[in-house]
Amino acid sequence: MAAKKLLILPGDGIGVEVMAQVRRIIEWMAKKRGVAFDVTEGLIGGAAYDVHGTPLADSTLTDAMAADAVLLGAVGGPKWDGLPFDKKPERGLLKIRKDMGLFANLRPAVVFDALVEASTLKPEVVAGLDMMIVRELTGGLYFGEPRGIEQLPDGQRRGFNTLSYTTSEIQRIGRVAFELARKRNKKVCSVDKANVLECTVLWREEMIKLQQAEYPDVELSHMYVDNAAMQLVRNPKQFDVMVTENTFGDILSDCAAMLTGSLGMLPSASLGAEDAQGRRKALYEPIHGSAPDIAGKDIANPLATVLSFGMCLRYSFDMAAEADMIDAAVKNVLKGGLRTADIMQPGKAKVSTTVMGEAIVRELDKMA
Ligand code: NAD
Repeated sequence: MAAKKLLILPGDGIGVEVMAQVRRIIEWMAKKRGVAFDVTEGLIGGAAYDVHGTPLADSTLTDAMAADAVLLGAVGGPKWDGLPFDKKPERGLLKIRKDMGLFANLRPAVVFDALVEASTLKPEVVAGLDMMIVRELTGGLYFGEPRGIEQLPDGQRRGFNTLSYTTSEIQRIGRVAFELARKRNKKVCSVDKANVLECTVLWREEMIKLQQAEYPDVELSHMYVDNAAMQLVRNPKQFDVMVTENTFGDILSDCAAMLTGSLGMLPSASLGAEDAQGRRKALYEPIHGSAPDIAGKDIANPLATVLSFGMCLRYSFDMAAEADMIDAAVKNVLKGGLRTADIMQPGKAKVSTTVMGEAIVRELDKMA
């Protein structure tokens, strides 16, 4: 079998520390499961700016395009806060998503039994939660034109952005959501603001047409975004797959993240369109940022990044068995009582990033 081309971009802050734990798992997969990964490492964000003067060098983008999958840590930090907008670390992230055509962001929100108490919500509200938010990632308010800040004749300034979607943009994100739902509980909730925003009137109409034409076996419901935010904290288990616009998805998925107790536990996948061979460009990353407040201390939770690698195995490399092993290793380590500081509970053992990474490998060893 040809080696799987993996580009690793640790980025900044804790991105570097958590990615080092994924490296252990990659080595383990090579040694114990005979899976050959052709791994390249590159720079993104502030680390890339320091070397190349830009948060994403063209050569890195070329490597990303050539890879079967990209694994990313996190970008950003106070060191680069003063940079002009187009040089900021976060621009590197937006650029790689846009240029790779990664229009679908998949964010599972899963509550592990061992961490039910870590949520700020009551255990009965979140226990057993397993939902997926599908966020449109390359259109909507974040990318719509015109945009800018202009000077008005009366001396004021005016800032403006544009919310726009085309039929095909709505259909392709809709298809990702319906396909995922087919492999889960066959329920899609499409979130919009069709009572106020014309763009999302179109969104709703196209979702209905798509469901009727191609996915009659999947149940489709609709919810206004304000209600969706409320329902997420009131009764999150009513959802299976939720699909929504870029900005709405950004906010709702962070809200869903907190249902699970910690940003440090949540992976994500960003997928592009299928090519002729049925393969998608793909980027996998934890949803948390570079956490400058704890960077360099070996205390960050590496599990979101470990689980992101699991998603990579599942969605890009068709390695469901190995992906299941990673999920099980995470579950077992938590059940065994190991916790990084962010998910620490009374009576459990507080461990470092490194020790958590080693524990995951030990669990994999037990299963092999
Ligand atoms: P953040 O996610 O970095 O941190 C928020 C809080 O959660 C912090 O207290 C942090 O210590 C904690 N935290 C996050 N991940 C953790 C982990 N794995 N283990 C333990 N604790 C964890 O968000 P922020 O503080 O708003 O942003 C910091 C920087 O990261 C900024 O420069 C921001 O732009 C950037 N950022 C990057 C991404 C990304 O790369 N995808 C996402 C969000 C923020």
